[in-house]
Amino acid sequence: MGGRRLTVKNVQICGMQAQVTRKPIRNMYLRIRPDDGTLLISAPMQLPDSEIRRFVESRMEWVLRHRGQTQRVRETAGRETVLLWGKEYPIRYQAPGCGEKERIETDGSTVIFYVYGQERRKELEDAWYTEELRRVLPRYTQKWERITGLAAAEWKIRNMKTRWGSCTVRTRRIRLASQLAALPAECLEYVIVHELMHLREAGHNERFWALVESYCPNYREIRRRMRG
Ligand SMILES: [Zn+2]
Repeated sequence: MGGRRLTVKNVQICGMQAQVTRKPIRNMYLRIRPDDGTLLISAPMQLPDSEIRRFVESRMEWVLRHRGQTQRVRETAGRETVLLWGKEYPIRYQAPGCGEKERIETDGSTVIFYVYGQERRKELEDAWYTEELRRVLPRYTQKWERITGLAAAEWKIRNMKTRWGSCTVRTRRIRLASQLAALPAECLEYVIVHELMHLREAGHNERFWALVESYCPNYREIRRRMRG
């Protein structure tokens, strides 16, 4: 076989996952994998990558229409939902128009993911939660800084995997998990109070929890809900 062996390469074209297989063929072929919308391209061995890209771009209208159709089918089968501020919304997937950005929009009853493929859901969702939290955060931090008389030097939003918040006492910097936007707002308020109290008491001792309770009497119940 020598130089005739097939080569498979994964690339991104127009923000979409594509798998390019080089074969000893004359023409290019484009298919779409139904289960995840990946573009499957068969191309002649020596054809430059730029030619492949141009080929796909020239068929973009077909690609988006086709992916949109397969996605609608999967959507009715999947019945996916997403949480925002403690409320569960059904998800609709839609391909963005050509040249449009991937984004999430909501009409109040449904959350619409404009994405090139469902595999992009997680990434886009994280960015959306960050944005949502950033939008409401000043309102709550100002409220609790006023009530407690404590102030952070900086409030930061992070995609945190294992915790809801953290406080560096020395620098007075507080970080909050972007995923708080999935929970009811009272959970966010509890985490704000919790991290602010660390400015007074670094450890999780009795004094610390008494301080938290003085501002957030139902904190035990909230903590239980956040763990579940
Ligand atoms: Zn703590």
